[in-house]
Amino acid sequence: MKKIVLALLLLPCLLLQAANISYEVSMPEPHTHYYNVKMNVTDYQKDYFDVQMPVWSPGSYLVREFAKGVEGLTATFNKKMLRAEKINKNTWRIYAEKAKNVVVNYKVYAFELSVRTSFVDASHAYFNGTSMFMFIDELRNIPHNLTIIPFKEWKKVSTSLPKLKGSKGFQYQAPDYDILVDSPVEIGNQETFDFTSAGVLHHVAMYGKGNYDVETLKVDMAKITQACTDVFGFNPNKEYTFIIHNLTRGSGGLEHLSSTTLEVNRWTYEGSAYKGFLSLVAHEYFHLWNVKRIRPKALGPFDYNNENYTSLLWVMEGFTSYYDELLLYRAGFYDEETIMRKFKGSINNIENQPGNKVQPVAHSSFDAWIKAYRPNENSYNTTISYYSKGSVVANMLDLMIINNTKGKKNLDNVMQYLYNEYYKKQGRGFTPDEMKKTLEIVSGLNMDAFFEKYINGTQSFDYKTIFGYAGLTVEIVENKDPSLGISQSGNKIRKVYRGSSAYIGGLNANDEILAIDGFRVKGNINDFIDAKKVGDNISVLISRDNIIQTISFPLLEKGSTRYFIFNDSEKKNNVHQKWLSQK
Ligand SMILES: [Zn+2]
Repeated sequence: MKKIVLALLLLPCLLLQAANISYEVSMPEPHTHYYNVKMNVTDYQKDYFDVQMPVWSPGSYLVREFAKGVEGLTATFNKKMLRAEKINKNTWRIYAEKAKNVVVNYKVYAFELSVRTSFVDASHAYFNGTSMFMFIDELRNIPHNLTIIPFKEWKKVSTSLPKLKGSKGFQYQAPDYDILVDSPVEIGNQETFDFTSAGVLHHVAMYGKGNYDVETLKVDMAKITQACTDVFGFNPNKEYTFIIHNLTRGSGGLEHLSSTTLEVNRWTYEGSAYKGFLSLVAHEYFHLWNVKRIRPKALGPFDYNNENYTSLLWVMEGFTSYYDELLLYRAGFYDEETIMRKFKGSINNIENQPGNKVQPVAHSSFDAWIKAYRPNENSYNTTISYYSKGSVVANMLDLMIINNTKGKKNLDNVMQYLYNEYYKKQGRGFTPDEMKKTLEIVSGLNMDAFFEKYINGTQSFDYKTIFGYAGLTVEIVENKDPSLGISQSGNKIRKVYRGSSAYIGGLNANDEILAIDGFRVKGNINDFIDAKKVGDNISVLISRDNIIQTISFPLLEKGSTRYFIFNDSEKKNNVHQKWLSQK
């Protein structure tokens, strides 16, 4: 009986193991911004099967509908056309008639150069697999092969995909679909260089001109990658690839298991902008642990057809944002004054954003798909970023853990616990409750009130007490000056801050300010407001949808709060020492 059941269970597995998927990507006319994709499915032999294009790219929590770039899909067997029809927004049904080999051909239009999409023009090609490769759901866990045929004038391919054993040229084999699409590819004549740190061979591919110096980058990126690795004690990769796009405008990155793509301003490699670049390197590299391996249950295995909801982005992005600054301090790029300025800046940012009193950071995480990635003129009033709020949460937790364990533990131990317990031991993601439990185990504190007030609620932290653990003094100063409470772009109002004079007085986003109190306004209105007192009436002449009107209202106090953090004592206490020390 047992044997029969076993044989029946094994049968479908054996059939799936026999099946094979490989892709061929070419770009013979790069100036037209099209890729040709050929998907070979062999030994699957179904009456019909479905091929699907992901609707989103992991790490970037927005449905982007990558199927919109697909055109001219056909399916053939031995050059004979098979019936193929689209059955929903991202799915094509291939009537394979049990054919041994099915070739699915399609083109992908790719002209959006961002870290999360695909692009090809006369100068280079870059793609994320999520906007290039269709998948067969049942076969997602088998190896996926890829052959790249670069445009004839291009000599290089940069990617973290493993080379297909014994292959020559640009042939790769991903162990499964997830890794195939988690390995972006840069194709062209990019500048490349390597450096080794933390026992890992790092490859760097530079697209675009910039004021970078390769030798400086090798030294500094080695320091950052080592500092990230030191948090966890070891590095799970043998090799790692940085793809860097140097553009006129650009800021951002996207994390992957063994690589990252960074998009930066081509002149970022000097002065304070360079520190910003190194912070971006630290951010994306830290993600190779935090979110790519340490991850919420909802983020893997991925559902490529729908939103993947998690209330934990404050850990995945917020903690990463805390470390992307802290690690620059640990690696010696920031002095103590600079890192304190960064921490203070984050606190001032969140505490003065009206949305911080409306949206708990757990909700901000959950609603990333429809709020954080789809901001509008009211977002500042109604949302808070899980990046900035999450980084302040991390800062508070770090100090609380150090204080309660008398300097024995810090937030690094939380990251290590999550990695060892859930990724290595249990091989899975964790739940919000398990995150809370982990914090309790490491800190020895009961976290019920913390989660209720600060994670699922919108209370402000008791900064005086928490920084007090490190012997620091916090001073809070209220700004009682008159203020209109808007942000502008030229004379146009972009945002009206909740509770401000303009908000209560009735000014709207998109109103064009023409005059205040009878004086013509050009751009900056601060001079008009500075000359007034709180309670004074102002009359604002505006154009709203091209209808001229006057709106009058009293000026209110700005009501913003500035947080200052001082170190009164000459010597660092133990908590301060454990929190901020350089090797
Ligand atoms: Zn991130």
